[in-house]
Amino acid sequence: MKELHRKRVLVTGGAGFLGSHLCERLVVAGHDVLCVDNFYTGVKDNIAPLLDAGNFELMRHDITFPLYVEVDEIYNLACPASPVHYQRDPVQTTKTSVHGAINMLGLAKRTGARILQASTSEVYGDPGVHPQTESYWGNVNPIGLRACYDEGKRCAETLFVNYHRQHGVATRIARIFNTYGPRMHPLDGRVISNLMTQALSGESLTIYGDGTQTRALCYVDDLVDGLIRLMETDVPPEAPVNLGSDNELTMLEVAREVLLATGSTASIELRPLPSDDPRRRCPDLSAARDCLAWSPSTPLAEGLARTARYFSQRLAMVSQVSRMDERATPTASLSPRSNAPV
Ligand code: NAD
Ligand code: UDP
Ligand code: UDP
Repeated sequence: MKELHRKRVLVTGGAGFLGSHLCERLVVAGHDVLCVDNFYTGVKDNIAPLLDAGNFELMRHDITFPLYVEVDEIYNLACPASPVHYQRDPVQTTKTSVHGAINMLGLAKRTGARILQASTSEVYGDPGVHPQTESYWGNVNPIGLRACYDEGKRCAETLFVNYHRQHGVATRIARIFNTYGPRMHPLDGRVISNLMTQALSGESLTIYGDGTQTRALCYVDDLVDGLIRLMETDVPPEAPVNLGSDNELTMLEVAREVLLATGSTASIELRPLPSDDPRRRCPDLSAARDCLAWSPSTPLAEGLARTARYFSQRLAMVSQVSRMDERATPTASLSPRSNAPV
C-alpha cells in the first residue's frame, strides 16, 4: 500500500467477533492496525492468525481507562454485545459504553483521528415504528434488563454528536443490526450461536416465546464492508446510519434455516421469552444505500452454511480435547447459554 493511503488504525474490541473480522480486513488492506481489548468476551484465538503480521499489534487494555496512542482512525467496537454477556456485569457494560466513549473521543480530539462508534439497533428498544428509520427515537425501558446496554449506547451516541458539534471531531455512528458469522462466541447465548450449537449437537433448538418475534440477520463480511465504507466516506451523513440486513424473519423461520444449513433434524423446544425482548426488528436501509452505496449481499443460506462449518470445527476441537482430558477433568461442554427465564 502507498504510504499516502496507509493509516494507523485503532480497533477497540478487536479480539471480539466483529472486531477480529474488521482487524483482518484492515491488515490485509495494508494499514497499521492496533487492536485494543480487555478480553472480557473476546479471545486470542480470534486474532491469532494476525499476530505474525508486521502491521498488526495487540494491546490488553480496558477502554474505561485513558489510552494515549497516536492514530489516524478509531473504530470503537469494545462492548459486550449479546444479552447474556452484557447483563452479566451491567454496571461495567454501561461504563464501557460511556466512559469508553469519552476516552476514545478524547483520544480522537487530541490526535485529530476520525472515529466510528459501533452503536446498535437496541437504541430503538422495542420499536413502535417499523421498519426502523434513523429518525425514530426509540422505545427503551430505562430500568429494564437490557437498559445497561441500550442506554449506554444511546449516551455514547449523544457524546459522539456533541464531540462533533462542540470540538469538531470527525465522527461516524453505525447502528448495527443483528450480525452473525464465524467467530461468534459459542456461549454468547445469541440466537445463531445457540441454534447452531444445538443443531450440530443433535439437541432441541430453543426458541423463546412463540417464535413469532422477528430479526433480520446480516452476514459479518457484509457488515464489515459497511463499517469501512462509513469510516471512509468523506461526506459523512449527519445522522447515525443503520447497517444490517432487511430480510426480516421470525425466530421459527430462522430455526428452520439453521436446520437446513446444518442438515439436522433436531426438534424445536419453546422456552419463556426474556423480559423486554423486542417484538419486531428490521432496519430501513435507505440511508446506507444513498450515502454509502452499501447493502448486504450474502444470502442467508450461504452465510449460515459458512457459520455452520465454523461451529462444527469448534465442536470437533472441543470434543477432541474433552476425549484427551476425559480421565482428568469433567467433560468440556459447549452447551448453549440461555437468558430465558426458567
Ligand atoms: P463481542 O463481545 O464479540 O466483542 C466485543 C469485544 O469488546 C470483546 O473482544 C471484548 O473483550 C471487548 N471489550 C468489552 N469491554 C471492553 C473494555 N471495557 N475495554 C476493552 N475491550 C472491551 O461483540 P461483537 O458482536 O463483536 O460486537 C462488537 C460491537 O458491535 C459492540 O460494540 C456491539 O455493541 C456492536 N454491535 C454488535 C452487533 C452484533 O450483532 N454482533 C449488533 C449491534 C451492535
Ligand atoms: N483521553 C485519552 N487519550 C487521549 C486524550 C484523552 O484517553 O489521548 C481521555 C482522558 O481520560 C480524558 C477524556 O479522554 O479525560 C476526555 O478528553 P477531553 O479532552 O474531551 O476532556 P478532558 O481532558 O478535559 O477531560
Ligand atoms: N432467541 C431464541 N432462542 C435462543 C436465543 C435467542 O429464540 O436460543 C431469541 C431471542 O429471544 C430474541 C431473538 O432470538 O427474540 C434474537 O436474540 P439475540 O440474543 O440473538 O439478539 P437480540 O435479542 O439482542 O436481538
